[in-house]
Amino acid sequence: MFTTRYQRMYDNLIEVCKKNLVNFDEKLIRKAFDFALEAHKKDLRASGEPYFDHPYEVAMIIAKEIPLDDVSIASALLHDVLEDTEITYEMLVKEFNQTIADIVDGVTKIGGVIRDHDASQAENYRKLLLSMVNDIRVILVKFADRLHNMRTLEFLSREKQIRIAKETMQIYVPFAHRFGLAQIRWELEDLAFKYLDPEAYEDIRKKLKATRREREAYIKKTIAPIKQKLDQEKLKYEIEGRPKHFYSIYRKMITRGKAFEEIYDLFAIRIILDTENIYECYNVLGMITQIYRPVPDRLHDYIAIPKSNNYQSIHTTVVGPEGKMVEIQIRTRRMHEIAEKGVAAHWKYKNSYKPSNKQIEELVDWIREIFENASNKEEANKEIIKDFKYYLQQDEIFVFTPKGDIRVLPKGATPIDFAFQIHTKVGFHCIGAKVNGKIVPLDTKLNSGDQVEILTSKNQTPNKSWEKFVITSKAKQEIRKWIKQEENKKVEEGKALVAKALKKLKIHINNDDLLKLVQKAKFENLNEFYKAVAAGTIDIQEFLTQKPETEKPQTTKEEVEKLEFEKFADNAREQIGGVLIAGDKLDVLHNYAKCCNPIPGDEILGFITRGEGVKIHRKNCKNLERLMKVHEGRIIDVAWPNTDGNYFIAAIKIVGEDRPGMLSEISQTIVNYQNTNIKSVNFQTHRSIFYGTISINVKNLDHLNHIIERLKKINGIETVERFELLN
Ligand code: MN
Repeated sequence: MFTTRYQRMYDNLIEVCKKNLVNFDEKLIRKAFDFALEAHKKDLRASGEPYFDHPYEVAMIIAKEIPLDDVSIASALLHDVLEDTEITYEMLVKEFNQTIADIVDGVTKIGGVIRDHDASQAENYRKLLLSMVNDIRVILVKFADRLHNMRTLEFLSREKQIRIAKETMQIYVPFAHRFGLAQIRWELEDLAFKYLDPEAYEDIRKKLKATRREREAYIKKTIAPIKQKLDQEKLKYEIEGRPKHFYSIYRKMITRGKAFEEIYDLFAIRIILDTENIYECYNVLGMITQIYRPVPDRLHDYIAIPKSNNYQSIHTTVVGPEGKMVEIQIRTRRMHEIAEKGVAAHWKYKNSYKPSNKQIEELVDWIREIFENASNKEEANKEIIKDFKYYLQQDEIFVFTPKGDIRVLPKGATPIDFAFQIHTKVGFHCIGAKVNGKIVPLDTKLNSGDQVEILTSKNQTPNKSWEKFVITSKAKQEIRKWIKQEENKKVEEGKALVAKALKKLKIHINNDDLLKLVQKAKFENLNEFYKAVAAGTIDIQEFLTQKPETEKPQTTKEEVEKLEFEKFADNAREQIGGVLIAGDKLDVLHNYAKCCNPIPGDEILGFITRGEGVKIHRKNCKNLERLMKVHEGRIIDVAWPNTDGNYFIAAIKIVGEDRPGMLSEISQTIVNYQNTNIKSVNFQTHRSIFYGTISINVKNLDHLNHIIERLKKINGIETVERFELLN
């Protein structure tokens, strides 16, 4: 239940909404009103009034001065609950909806960003703020909030007054101007001026007041013949003499170096036509120039060429009574509303019902357009125009250095990009990064508003992998340059090593022959070869002394091993007498699976293929396991013939140090062990390591394993294992 005070406030708000909005959800506004009132019930403002009066007045400003929709009014009522009360974002989502929760959250966040950082980099701050806003209503509510705070600034300390007024002048005023919110812009500017230079403000105020009667009389005299003419033509219109805003008078005095008394056009006459026909404006201009002589070069047709913020009007200056200059503005009602209310009015005229999300999106696009035009026309500095274009494509982010300076980076930039932007040296020695106080991976994508700190170490150098994720051209170029330099160093190092080796080996080799050797070894070019030499991945002496016979096509170690295994396996399978099925020799077409290469001694199974007969696999073959799941019925039991008392061939792979006597020690060990004999031996030596395969006769796998264990005990042996080929 409301007290009569709140009931009256509520009724007023609804009345204003009814007047300014074609359509709105009263239940939503009522709910927001009750919710905010309850949330703020214990708090007071600096003025001693209930805190709720503030969000209420902010909602009133929206409803009266920039009426857009019910959501922005409800959000205005709720705009301080996240910051000042126990209410959470989740509660707002639950109680209202995501849109309202996001708007309130946005208002809270941008307020925080402005407060926490010195606003000396105003241009960047404006961009930062905009980049954080994705719903235009966040900005409208923030403007209204700031306007109400400025209107009630008298209750704060002098120090706070100055800080807030400065912020208003540097950030909110230019923003309001670009959004076409003329009324709010002038009021913010005059209020800020009042606190920043109270003496100048007071001086102008007094002088305007003192000369008011005189000026009003003059305006009346000037207007009279115009009115007469307009009435004759039966036009519907409003005509007013509008005093210039305090700050614009002040600025004129400063820029023109004139005293207050010397500024003539303190008044402008404004004619607002109640028509949708823009040509009426030109007719009226014609009528006026019949009455007063126009001043040359002072005609501005902002109807044909609207200002960047969509402002439209005809401005002309004429010589009025007593030879004084008077500025006259002519516009339609619609142009007037757009000039005064900007964004909100634009929407009002575009649609006569509640805006859909799509229309809100269009509105945001339209605002972006305003920004683009504004930057093109107003900012001479090409860099700023470029920056703005970046923003328009939402391609930019704004991050802070630990000292609070803003850095502009393209979207998707990482701490490495940031480091190189700070200084090439910082980039080169970057070893880690902290974002908002937490250590993050170096490929982390930064977000607007992040505070980034780069950790450096003198010993750190750029990593080749950085090139893959950095996105700024500066970082890319520097990293590439560094990699190139390092490569050149390695090439030089490799060249020196080759020269040294040639000298030591007393070999003369010309470049062509060297290139042939290098190509034979499958290096792309000489540089790649030198790099490998420097990195120590090839033995330069061995490389340079290789024998010409290596000209025959080289087979890889794997290929050699495979061929040798096949030779051995065929031999072993044949010698044992093939495979048995149910005790009989398997005499249908069969072969041995290449995936597991079964050899005598292995437990085996047969798989009946389509067209290739029976394929013999090892029992534990992974492929076979898969086949069995699908085709269980196609598996048959097979076995090697029983070797009890007989021998079958097995092979051993052996690697060890190539020392004198090694081979004889190996053969002694095998032969002396239970009458095993060696069937064949194949040894190769490479860089004083030998690689060998030995085929031997064994009784069974146990027997083989014993032999392997024995061989392992020989001095200088590295590995001994059963020779098998598993893919
Ligand atoms: Mn507020």
